[in-house]
Amino acid sequence: MTVKFREGATPGVVPMLSIGPQHDRPQKEGVKLQVIDELCVGCNYCLMSCQDDALIVEGICEVLLDKCTDCLRCLLWCPTGALVYE
Ligand code: SF4
Ligand code: SF4
Repeated sequence: MTVKFREGATPGVVPMLSIGPQHDRPQKEGVKLQVIDELCVGCNYCLMSCQDDALIVEGICEVLLDKCTDCLRCLLWCPTGALVYE
């Protein structure tokens, strides 16, 4: 897992943001938070950062899109760049 983590440790791609009433959100309509399975090392950092119970990590991360508020906390905390907006 250490090697996989090191190989996958790239900065996440942060989408362009527009300022919202509560927090910044991705500007582009229609993009959704997704997990790149090959980069996820199951570290749980995203889970610990999410305040909306929108993530499950069982081996790898899964996003519950109906709960996700696009706050970007998880994306900014993910150490491998496994969380992206596409
Ligand atoms: S963007 Fe925010 S609400 Fe959505 S999964 Fe990440 S931390 Fe949770
Ligand atoms: S923080 Fe990134 S690497 Fe860690 S479990 Fe979440 S998506 Fe996977």
